[in-house]
Amino acid sequence: MAKRDFYDVLGVQKNATADEMKKAYRRLAMKHHPDRNPDSKEAEDKFKEANEAYEILSDADKRAAYDRYGHAGVDPNMGGGGGAGGAGFGDIFGDVFGDIFGGGGRGGGQQRSNRGSDLGYTLELDLEEAVRGTKVQIRVPTMSECEPCDGSGAKKGTSASPCRSCNGSGQVRVQQGFFVMSQTCPSCHGRGSVITDPCGSCRGEGRVRKQKTLEVKIPAGVDTGDRIRLTGEGEAGAQGGPAGDLYVQVSVREHRIFKRDGADLYCEVPIDFADAALGGELEVPTLDGRVKLRIPEGAQTGKLFRLKGKGVKPIRAHAPGDMLCRVIVETPVNLSSEQKDMLRQFKQTMSGDDNKQSPNKESFFSAVRKFFDEMTK
Ligand SMILES: [Zn+2]
Ligand SMILES: [Zn+2]
Repeated sequence: MAKRDFYDVLGVQKNATADEMKKAYRRLAMKHHPDRNPDSKEAEDKFKEANEAYEILSDADKRAAYDRYGHAGVDPNMGGGGGAGGAGFGDIFGDVFGDIFGGGGRGGGQQRSNRGSDLGYTLELDLEEAVRGTKVQIRVPTMSECEPCDGSGAKKGTSASPCRSCNGSGQVRVQQGFFVMSQTCPSCHGRGSVITDPCGSCRGEGRVRKQKTLEVKIPAGVDTGDRIRLTGEGEAGAQGGPAGDLYVQVSVREHRIFKRDGADLYCEVPIDFADAALGGELEVPTLDGRVKLRIPEGAQTGKLFRLKGKGVKPIRAHAPGDMLCRVIVETPVNLSSEQKDMLRQFKQTMSGDDNKQSPNKESFFSAVRKFFDEMTK
């Protein structure tokens, strides 16, 4: 069966706002929710279709990929960009319906109610590491599965017994006006089971606080603000529940020489005033060595020179950007008396009234003259 257009599925215009889509999705999901349509295959399909459409369109990046490439742009099975990872509909479902279905928990479902929390970790990298990619070991304080009870929370040799309030389903039905809603069972908090004989090491939690050491592979080109998701490396779930995810947030340290702006690298190069006046060739550093930079005669301070392709390749880019060298002309210091004499002679040769030899100075003073003229008018 050909896949329907996601906008058609939600019944919204191509330029619909996030709010309009959320409303449309909510309406559809209420209508086709399996709890309200037990045993209807059609409702189930419609429900899934709406979930999928909303998952893509509610994510600005995925929506952009979908708008450009259609289903191929977001379908993880198609191998095209965009669809990798994905939040899973539990996330968006919890986001939109957290206030209606199942109090607490991300998805309101039984499986998710004892899921471990997601964790965040800020990883500081040097610019070189971020640009080339690296492997780092990080230590994360987290909740890990309790070993004596294998994470179940029940004392070794015993096991949890089904919760009587919900008959082990983790959900109870409550009447709200005309609707019958599913809610997380308050007795077992959605776990469906209760522990009568808890494990001593974790007091029945199934997990204990621990430092975890992880090796993280950092892809080449990451930049401050990029986030790497390590599925299942967050906190262990309670009583054998699924683990949360770990999000590693990249922060790149300031570099002594280079400043990065996306794909471009900036660097300031001091040059002495004779080189600036006469022009010449100097060596400038790049991230992987050095290159020659030609300075034309009469280079002014602040002038930017572009070295094509000597920048950085961002994580999803195909080619590196440029390096931009800003020359800073240095005034000589600690002059000998001989040098001072030479400069005085040199100055004499410049002091004609047609001062084309100091272009900035000339334009500055003519602007000043104009400024005063207008003031005294
Ligand atoms: Zn229960
Ligand atoms: Zn235990």
